[in-house]
Amino acid sequence: MFITPPLVAILKSDGDYAALLPPLLALAEAENVIQPGESVLIKPNLHAPVDTPATSSVTDPALVGALIDWARERGAGEILVADGPFFGVNPPESVFTLVGMDKVVESRGAQWRAVNHGPWREFREASPYWPKLVRISELAFSYDRIINVALAKTHMDCMVTLGMKNLKGLLHPEEKARFHQEGELSRALVALNQVVRPDLTIVDGTLGMEGLGPHAGTVANWGYLFAGRDTAAVEAVVTPAMGVDIEEARVLQYAVEAGMVDPAAIEVRGEDPARIRRRFERPYEAMLRQLPGVRLEGKAACSACKLNLIRALCEEAAAGVLPPERCVHIGKAEAGPDALLIGKCAGAANPGCRHLPGCPPRVEKIKEYVRGEGEGRRQITDLP
Ligand code: SF4
Repeated sequence: MFITPPLVAILKSDGDYAALLPPLLALAEAENVIQPGESVLIKPNLHAPVDTPATSSVTDPALVGALIDWARERGAGEILVADGPFFGVNPPESVFTLVGMDKVVESRGAQWRAVNHGPWREFREASPYWPKLVRISELAFSYDRIINVALAKTHMDCMVTLGMKNLKGLLHPEEKARFHQEGELSRALVALNQVVRPDLTIVDGTLGMEGLGPHAGTVANWGYLFAGRDTAAVEAVVTPAMGVDIEEARVLQYAVEAGMVDPAAIEVRGEDPARIRRRFERPYEAMLRQLPGVRLEGKAACSACKLNLIRALCEEAAAGVLPPERCVHIGKAEAGPDALLIGKCAGAANPGCRHLPGCPPRVEKIKEYVRGEGEGRRQITDLP
């Protein structure tokens, strides 16, 4: 049962999760989420094998430990902590063992499991935004309660990764890759959140990550902890508090369009989101610092184009490919006479000029195009 209007609680956090979690969850009116004897699935963010939570790349085991204690006090039955790392991590269990999540969970008599091994529930042609076949861990459907424990981080593809994206760890490893490769990741994630509905979502912004998130960013030292029964509502509060507009965060934008949340209808308790607002450095801003000399016109472009373009240029630079001498132009604005035009909007704003189509164009396509066009000039009649 969800609270109407959706409620999101915010408390200042110094990382003392055992002390902070009970008042935070009381403020979020989540105390009755678990009934005695109910089984609980806790889904942290363990997307990569790292040996410390101090980088804010993965969920702090201390937070999960405090959550298990809180659930036990409410009479929870079986408790399982489960997540699947990004495609290719071998063995997947290393995401638990390296950071010490295994010991924290075991010391409390709970269990842990890497999601990678199934069983899976199959969804065939279930959404226009999904690959034809999507397999989601049966764990998402076989526990009485799901508690979603995400981090506040920036993200290369989605601008931010919070509670809604955190559910991607419940997918079959191949689908994780396909969500990125086929269609638009943000739309696929919104569809996933319409199928898997956590009972409680916690977003840890005690540290937070900015810049090259979700893995290689820098610690933001933000100092806040968020919780709510409605995952999309938590998303709608944390995102602007990170200084990210809804138009930049496509997962949230599409969730609003799908009617999953009305940001204006959310009740916030605890800290005032306007007062805690801190602008997180965008991934493309951090990447641009690595590309001295590159000329980019992108004031009228949205983040998805910026992210893909700068990511493509960074990957090319890392591979030893010289950056383009010509100015690279994205977004719906008139371009200079010799600009390389990337994306649907750049094409629409400069009619008759050659451009790379796509919305946003994919990273590999941008690399190919910039390499191919680097030596050439704009040709008015040579449309792709
Ligand atoms: S082409 Fe698409 S992604 Fe790029 S600026 Fe236009 S709307 Fe945004």
